Amino acid sequence: MPGNMLRPMKPVTHRAAWVMADPWTLIPNGYVTADVGRILAVGCWGQGRAAADTDSGHIIDHGPGLLMPCLVNAHSHMELCALGGKTVSNRGFIAWVESVIALKADIADTDLIKAAREGYGRSLTEGVRVLGDISTSGITESVFHELPVLGVLFREYLGSASEDPLCRRIGPAKTISLAGHAPHTTAPDLLVRLKNITRRQGLPFAIHLAESAAEMEFIAVGAGPWADLLRAREIDFSTWRFLRQSPVAYADTLGLLDDATLAVHLVYADKNDIGLLADRHVKVCLCPQSNMSLHGRLPDLPAMLNAGIKPCLGTDSPASNPDASIWAEMAFLVKSFPGIASSEVLAMATCNGAAALGLGDLLGRLKPGFMADLIYLPIHATTPQTIMESLVHDRPDPDLISHI
Ligand SMILES: [Zn+2]
Repeated sequence: MPGNMLRPMKPVTHRAAWVMADPWTLIPNGYVTADVGRILAVGCWGQGRAAADTDSGHIIDHGPGLLMPCLVNAHSHMELCALGGKTVSNRGFIAWVESVIALKADIADTDLIKAAREGYGRSLTEGVRVLGDISTSGITESVFHELPVLGVLFREYLGSASEDPLCRRIGPAKTISLAGHAPHTTAPDLLVRLKNITRRQGLPFAIHLAESAAEMEFIAVGAGPWADLLRAREIDFSTWRFLRQSPVAYADTLGLLDDATLAVHLVYADKNDIGLLADRHVKVCLCPQSNMSLHGRLPDLPAMLNAGIKPCLGTDSPASNPDASIWAEMAFLVKSFPGIASSEVLAMATCNGAAALGLGDLLGRLKPGFMADLIYLPIHATTPQTIMESLVHDRPDPDLISHI
């Protein structure tokens, strides 16, 4: 049977008491009309073009709750789902890294893949369909292909790997791209090579940056506990240059910072670093629960917002954040930074995340021309403010989230 025979012959209009087009636009008595996966119209039912837009199509009234875009988790490591709750978390960052390496080596690929599949499944169930997922081994690439997730699978490289890294677009909103793990784990010439490959193809590039005190010391002077770890693992860093720079300044020296680079963590980024990131229009992803768990501190989110950066949110891996949920990240963030508006936090989990993955013209908002990837939440609220408060504070029961 030809594929188009399975498609509805007419547009479908979804109605609800509220439609969130973006975190600053809540439409009462709203509707979204879609056809073949794309949004045709968004508006207030009964006003203006609504009748003309929906005359000839099927109408579904979802009820008294909210239609909104699917959420975005811009930094996850689904291939580490099997490590959740098993890592050493109370003896410092280096001990945690060593435990991740040892555990991953001990778990069979089939078990890592099975747990990753379950992780993707939990994400979809929670209405988080767009991911920036990291894969160091490549074993989760087939799962990413197969499941109805969107976003970017970043093949991540450490050390000085010599294979030819490949990246490619799978569909309009599904891409395999590249990541350098971090400045203290990946040789500088490899970081430059990876960034140049993604730059030539117009794809996003990801890197963990300024995450730990050990990274700060190593990048500045080439010494400290991270240098000891590399020596113990017989990793040669003798050709790396240490210029008393921060990791952000070092990444800039290598030419890694531009508007297609997604810098993750930035726990130790100071005001100069934040200014540099803003000047280079770098995309920024924060993983607050992982940061607090591993490092006992959070990035300077207010300074980032003041500098004009539009950060997004990631869960990081269950190895550092067993409760890997974007809803939980939002709730943790508003508790940690009570002065930040709910709309800013929701933007981090929707439109900012989509933009960070190079999908800001397709996902993260409900807008004509965008992909019709939306969810319905049966929340009962009477004003835009109470809806926003509910979204960022109250993690919804996944069983009550409808996927449109
Ligand atoms: Zn990470």
